[in-house]
Amino acid sequence: MRIGLGYDLHPLVTGRPLILGGVQIPYEKGLSGHSDADVLVHALCDALLGAACMGDIGELFPDTDPTYKNACSIDLLAETWRRVSRVCPGIANLDATVFAEAPKLGPYKEAIRRKLAGTLGTDPARINIKATTMEGLGEIGEGRAMAAMCVVLID
Ligand code: MG
Repeated sequence: MRIGLGYDLHPLVTGRPLILGGVQIPYEKGLSGHSDADVLVHALCDALLGAACMGDIGELFPDTDPTYKNACSIDLLAETWRRVSRVCPGIANLDATVFAEAPKLGPYKEAIRRKLAGTLGTDPARINIKATTMEGLGEIGEGRAMAAMCVVLID
């Protein structure tokens, strides 16, 4: 059994689509970054790489590389899993928390679970997505950023 932890944060800005867990979510702002800035998928990639002792997402997909400009993070997750699954093929479970003041993510959790399960070739029943606010405090609470944390156990 191997365990991995991932964390990521991106600024929330106007004029960008909001993509979390590979699902586009209707909102007045979106996450900014070199790729599509899918903070949940980035935390998940780092958790997988951590479990496999394969470094981190910045080493695999440098944000200085134009190849990854506006990259779809689900594609980065698929490539991450292609490498990790050679060493650690079976996901026991995956648990993630998104830190966001708004919008409410409840209606999208099921779609996110299905999207991630499809990309990782696993059962959605092994994936749990949680969301929490920061009670109005800090850059996340003020709606200027979103963060995500993920832990994964691999057989
Ligand atoms: Mg990131």
